[in-house]
Amino acid sequence: MISFSQVCKRYPNGFEALRDVSFILEAGEMALINGHSGAGKSTLLRLIAAIERPTTGSIIVNGQNVGTLKGGAIPFLRRNLGLVFQDQKILFDRTVFQNVLLPLQISGFSRRAAIGRVRAALDKVGLLSREKAQPITLSGGEQQRLCIARAIVNRPSILIADEPTSNLDADYARDIMDMFKSFNQVGVTVLIATHDVELLGNMQQRIFTLSHGKLTA
Ligand code: ADP
Ligand code: ADP
Repeated sequence: MISFSQVCKRYPNGFEALRDVSFILEAGEMALINGHSGAGKSTLLRLIAAIERPTTGSIIVNGQNVGTLKGGAIPFLRRNLGLVFQDQKILFDRTVFQNVLLPLQISGFSRRAAIGRVRAALDKVGLLSREKAQPITLSGGEQQRLCIARAIVNRPSILIADEPTSNLDADYARDIMDMFKSFNQVGVTVLIATHDVELLGNMQQRIFTLSHGKLTA
């Protein structure tokens, strides 16, 4: 469960990116965050992952108060969060398989236990046949699938994605959205930021709209 209660985020330069934002996303729900560029979508997602801290208000993620979480507890929070963020670059000097293996190595999995999980994650995003490929040989849509496989390989209860369909053709974008829906159908809580209004038209999910840092719908 993700709960925001009267959250404000003011950056060090004084810019107020989020103002009095409150909402609850129940465990197992899926929602989209829509809004213009600069509306505060990325900021909201970064707060959930404790990449940024709220200036005021409280944020509860899986029962933990993320705003006041001690530094040492953050890796444990993130282990339960699948993040698909634009700044998480693919490592182009490693294979597809090795890219997805990395989060498990960081979590301390044995290689034997990790292999099965990596293959399962690649299978879910339709990339199993490309496990030995160099990422540079993948299409844009496949590279995005690789990022999603890397986000789910730890089997997080919550999946958060920032503009996962930007730079993709409409068909690829729909595939990616269908993939998120399928994760949601097996119980994962899913929250996706997108400015792609066309995409929203096809979605049955809850939609949060941000405008200049305020939740308007
Ligand atoms: P969106 O994802 O909706 O495009 P962002 O959350 O990235 O919006 O940004 C919201 C606003 O906050 C923008 O005006 C952006 O320039 C500003 N902003 C984001 N990060 C910072 C930062 N670290 N310092 C100051 N302003 C920031
Ligand atoms: P992402 O790439 O994940 O959307 P970024 O951190 O790169 O998030 O930045 C999001 C937005 O916030 C961009 O518009 C960026 O220009 C702006 N931004 C980031 N850091 C700062 C900052 N220190 N001051 C002002 N704006 C910022």
